[in-house]
Amino acid sequence: MNYYPESILKLIKSLSTLPGIGRKTAERLALHILHAPLHEAQSIASDILELKQKVRLCAKCFALSDKEYCRVCSNPNRDDSLICVVENPSDMAVIEKSGVFNGYYHILGGALSPIDGIGPDEIRLKELFIRASSKEVKEVIIATGTDVEGEATASYIADNLRFYDNIELSNKSKQNGLIISRIASGVPMGGDLQYVDQVTIQRAMEGRRGF
Ligand SMILES: [Zn+2]
Repeated sequence: MNYYPESILKLIKSLSTLPGIGRKTAERLALHILHAPLHEAQSIASDILELKQKVRLCAKCFALSDKEYCRVCSNPNRDDSLICVVENPSDMAVIEKSGVFNGYYHILGGALSPIDGIGPDEIRLKELFIRASSKEVKEVIIATGTDVEGEATASYIADNLRFYDNIELSNKSKQNGLIISRIASGVPMGGDLQYVDQVTIQRAMEGRRGF
C-alpha cells in the first residue's frame, strides 16, 4: 500500500471509515475518483459538503429536511388526523416508500434505554405529546421497534398519551378520545425495517391494533 502517494493514502483512509467500506473497496473507490474527470470528483465532494450544510431536522416532525419543514409536513394533502411515531428517519423512509400511510410522522430520534442513559428527556417525547394534544389529531400510530427498547417506548407513549388525553377530555377541550394504536407485531423495526418488503409493511399498518 505504501507505493501510493500520500494524497491517495489519505483518501483511502478516510473512505474506509465509512460503514461497509473495507480497505480494498476504499482503495478501488479512491483510484476510481483519481481517474474520473475533475467535474465528477468535484461534484462528489460538493454533494457531501452541501448535505452537511443544508440538511437539518424538520421543525415539526424532526425528519431530515433541507427546508424548515420536510416534504411530508409541507404537503397539505396528507391526513392531519394521523401521526405515525417512529424511532429514526430511516424507519420513516421505509414506511413512505411503501406508500401505505398518508398521515404525518413524528421522529423520536431513538428509543428509551435506561441502561444507555436514554430517558424520556433524551428523545422527542414532549414534542410528541404537544402535537398529539392538538384538536385535529385523532389517532397516534406507534411504530417504534419490536425489541425491548421499542416496546418500552411504545408503552411509555401510550400511558402518557392516555393521561394527557383524559385531562383534555375532562376539560372538554376535546370531544372524542384519542385513538392510540400499535403497528402489528412481526415487523422487525429499527435498522432491520429497511429489509422488510412493502406487503409486510402494508399488513402491519392495516393490521394495527388499539394499544
Ligand atoms: Zn416534517
